[in-house]
Amino acid sequence: MNTFKTIDDMDVSGKKVLVRADLNVPMAGGKPSDTTRIDRTVPTVRDLISKGAKVIILSHFGRPKGQVVPEMSLRPVAEAMGKALGMDVKFATDTIGESAKSVTNAMKNGDVAMLENVRFHAEETENDDAFASSLASIGDVYVNDAFSTAHRAHASTEALARKLPAAAGRLMQAELEALGGALGNPKKPVAAVVGGAKVSTKMEVLGNLSKKVDMIIIGGGMANTFLFANGMDVGASLCEKDMADEARKIVAEAASHGCEIVLPVDVVVAKEFAAGAANQVVGIDAIPADMMALDIGPATIKDVEERLAKCKTLVWNGPFGAFEIEPFDKGTNAAAQAAARLTKAGSLLSVAGGGDTVAALAHAGAADDFTYISTAGGAFLEWIEGKTLPGVAALEG
Ligand code: ADP
Ligand code: MG
Repeated sequence: MNTFKTIDDMDVSGKKVLVRADLNVPMAGGKPSDTTRIDRTVPTVRDLISKGAKVIILSHFGRPKGQVVPEMSLRPVAEAMGKALGMDVKFATDTIGESAKSVTNAMKNGDVAMLENVRFHAEETENDDAFASSLASIGDVYVNDAFSTAHRAHASTEALARKLPAAAGRLMQAELEALGGALGNPKKPVAAVVGGAKVSTKMEVLGNLSKKVDMIIIGGGMANTFLFANGMDVGASLCEKDMADEARKIVAEAASHGCEIVLPVDVVVAKEFAAGAANQVVGIDAIPADMMALDIGPATIKDVEERLAKCKTLVWNGPFGAFEIEPFDKGTNAAAQAAARLTKAGSLLSVAGGGDTVAALAHAGAADDFTYISTAGGAFLEWIEGKTLPGVAALEG
């Protein structure tokens, strides 16, 4: 499955290694306010240092749209990277050209430098070949550690990878291995949890997963659309009635691939979408006309837990309910904790991703025990939609 090379396959000693990282960190008062993305790049940089490479870090920051925007300079990020590594990180005031050349030509083995924001050049997002050649002329080897930007074919993620010997960095490698283990060649039975607000945003996710997994457990607002499509009255719940045909098609197509679509059997309903709103548990055939289903009920939680206990692999995107407002976080918490327990016990490989999903699993206190939680956002979604990620394809190519 792993057709990509890693740092272990490359001879980097004495070489200039261009590392494409995602250092698009949040800033406050001119300094990174959260260093997670910097810290996650450190293992790759350290590995390369220990192999005697000259490490040249390349990243985008914000959306400067091809202009030099001083507030979007990577200089403060280079300083923070220096702190994280405990060493001096040189900074080139341009991504290519004289400044990049003179800074990188002066490097010794084991040195680290960072180039200015690659998106200061409009050619970056155009995947421009000549620009990629200019980038390639700075280094001898290319390492991509930015899975989160791999769904975009940009010069520093796609064209550049085809111009130099290319490998995945440690973070990219971890992500590809985790995702490969979950959907590439997974241990069966495989369950997917797909929740969240709307079916319309998850059509491609459902379509791809239904070909690959044994069951899709549907939660969240989108479950209401499936229930409605089955002829249930969902009261005042969030429901995309115009998607009922699509929902029925998904169920039929899934069945043709031997994939079961699992829906809630009971729900927690309330009159308001608000924390602490008065609520009650009802069967799915008894949702009052003036109430909304905001979470799965206890019988559904039990069903989900029993199903997960029989599975070997789990892919999760989307919460089971309105987890941001208590007590409608109960279903998501219980299912997440069950998956975390099973993973810890060694019987389940669990991979999750999605903006709200990452927040929901952290809220449930389950994040640390999942096999892998992808923070890649859009790239993770495109991956579960079954799309080819240009930045990954270029490494395999
Ligand atoms: P992700 O960002 O992980 O892909 P989504 O954006 O698809 O997840 O879904 C998250 C949103 O779905 C949350 O804001 C949550 O409040 C909402 N949601 C979940 N269940 C319900 C529900 N029953 N009714 C209304 N909104 C819901
Ligand atoms: Mg979301």
